[in-house]
Amino acid sequence: MKVLVVGSGGREHALAWKLLQSPNIDRVFCIPGNGGTATMPNCQNVSLSIDDFEGMLRFAQVQGVGFTMVGPELPLALGIVDYFQAAESLIFGPTQEGAMIESSKAWAKTLMAEAQIPTAASATFNDLESAQAYVQQQGAPIVIKADGLASGKGVTVAMDIAEAIAALERIFAGQFGSAGETVVIEEFMTGQEVSVLAFTDGQTIRPLCPAQDHKRLGDGDTGPNTGGMGAYAPAPIATRELMAKVQTRVLEPAIAALRARGIDYRGCLYAGLMITPEGEPKVVEFNCRLGDPETQAILPLLDTNLDELILACIEGKLANFPPLKWKNQAAVCIVMAAGGYPDKVDMGQFITGIGKAEDIGAFVFQSGTRLKNNALVTNGGRVLGVTALGDNIRQAITNVYSAVDFIAYDGMYYRKDIASKAVV
Ligand code: ATP
Repeated sequence: MKVLVVGSGGREHALAWKLLQSPNIDRVFCIPGNGGTATMPNCQNVSLSIDDFEGMLRFAQVQGVGFTMVGPELPLALGIVDYFQAAESLIFGPTQEGAMIESSKAWAKTLMAEAQIPTAASATFNDLESAQAYVQQQGAPIVIKADGLASGKGVTVAMDIAEAIAALERIFAGQFGSAGETVVIEEFMTGQEVSVLAFTDGQTIRPLCPAQDHKRLGDGDTGPNTGGMGAYAPAPIATRELMAKVQTRVLEPAIAALRARGIDYRGCLYAGLMITPEGEPKVVEFNCRLGDPETQAILPLLDTNLDELILACIEGKLANFPPLKWKNQAAVCIVMAAGGYPDKVDMGQFITGIGKAEDIGAFVFQSGTRLKNNALVTNGGRVLGVTALGDNIRQAITNVYSAVDFIAYDGMYYRKDIASKAVV
């Protein structure tokens, strides 16, 4: 079977790689893909834009692909699934309405309130004056969020009132365009964060191995928020007991509330959770797709054929799907960024050492890369995700940093403390 993967990040490279591990898959097309998917055997990039639904559907039909797997949120929020479904072309992901669980934080908050899902107390505003008054009344720390998609940049965790007011002024002045016409203001939560990515066919829910992302740029969780600087799985904080609570208090009520709204949610429901000091899971956010970099840590641990799991979700047959099989190992993924990230970055720097990292058993998933005269160069903020396995997290940390040591390019930056929280 041939399949189509939509997106260009490390997540999509990892998806394409994992799909090609299956004996059922002989070819993967990536739209638009990156330097890694361009050079992987049996994988081919297709130069189309991820909002060109007509072009992508035509390509899928001409090639006779078995299904399309959507990586990023944007095409889901724009309705790619509705478009493909109307043409009876199989595709993994929620419809445009289902994707609102990520594309509107206010919508997600209302859904959570309806379903009594534990989350931070919040209020929603459409004008600066009332939002400011609310912040003054609540005090700091407090969290300010633009309602719509803002590539992880729409959230300010304000430690004082002045910072909160400044964030509100920027958002209502149009910093995020229409994504900031509405603002959600949330209670500040403390605790450790865990990402639970769950596959669902709209009825049955199968969580993947829990992971922990590292959103801040600097070691010790300092500096600005980023798209994610590294991840590890499984996250020891997500015990069996905690995962049972996540299933019954978060995932099942969310899918039931979506169904009650007439939304048949098939795809990945990603719960970003804060584990409170009392050990209770509270939802920070829902995403309507797999997380990046979490996917780069999780997929190398999965021993089930991904295409079969995806098709079971699309076809509504997840209840009969066998239990997911996992390697009894740990995985750590280090995101290697370009100089200047998360602001303006240097591009076009030659990258060396990937082969040596792979020779010692690491998986090097590419994101901001491209081929320039057959040489690999940097082409974005997050350049590579290097994942290594180990018999435990400590071993995986040693293995992954040994692999990272082989890789070089001008301006290279990565965190040195990924997963260290899991071994203290
Ligand atoms: P991304 O696109 O990166 O997933 P996002 O823009 O959807 O992010 P959130 O995940 O809601 O935004 O928030 C980003 C980060 O801000 C969270 O991972 C968390 O570290 C912090 N954060 C968000 N809400 C809260 C809260 N109520 N209390 C404390 N920290 C929070």
